[in-house]
Amino acid sequence: MTDKIRIATTSLAGCFGCHMSFLDIDERLLELIQHVEFDRSPLTDIEHCGPCDIGLIEGGVCNSENVHVLREFREHCKILVAVGACAINGGLPAMRNFVPLEDCLNESYMTGIGIENPQIPNDPELPLLLDKVRPIHEIVKIDYFLPGCPPSADVFWKFLTDLLAGQEPSLTYELLRYD
Ligand code: SF4
Repeated sequence: MTDKIRIATTSLAGCFGCHMSFLDIDERLLELIQHVEFDRSPLTDIEHCGPCDIGLIEGGVCNSENVHVLREFREHCKILVAVGACAINGGLPAMRNFVPLEDCLNESYMTGIGIENPQIPNDPELPLLLDKVRPIHEIVKIDYFLPGCPPSADVFWKFLTDLLAGQEPSLTYELLRYD
């Protein structure tokens, strides 16, 4: 039996920059892993999120698979956290929201500069794109939001250590950033 806090993480329509920032807590990771264990995350080989205390979600929702993964996290995580600008407001991937999806696909695969063998990918294995990139709180209930692109390592550290201490997470003004 373990009394460690179980954490799952995933990147939806994100760049893994938020995950990299999390790892920037550097040697504090050694202290953290005395108190937490990881479920589904880039650090493990676990394919599906199981019962967890905390789910950290990077990236917005751009396709049907993102919706499925996000709902699975919501179902299994007691606390679900939107990590970074992309999860909170769609971020950079949401720039495509200003262009109709059909035009995006045509430009990317049919008419763009340097394209050879133009064809829009249609393999049934590929997840269907949503018409727009959505922030994750439009799909499921989110408990906490960590702003920034990415949130700093100190934000992750303060947020998680507050939770581990049984306290309501509180981020100081200095830790909050929106770029
Ligand atoms: Fe990458 Fe920034 Fe989006 Fe995080 S918020 S996934 S660092 S673009």
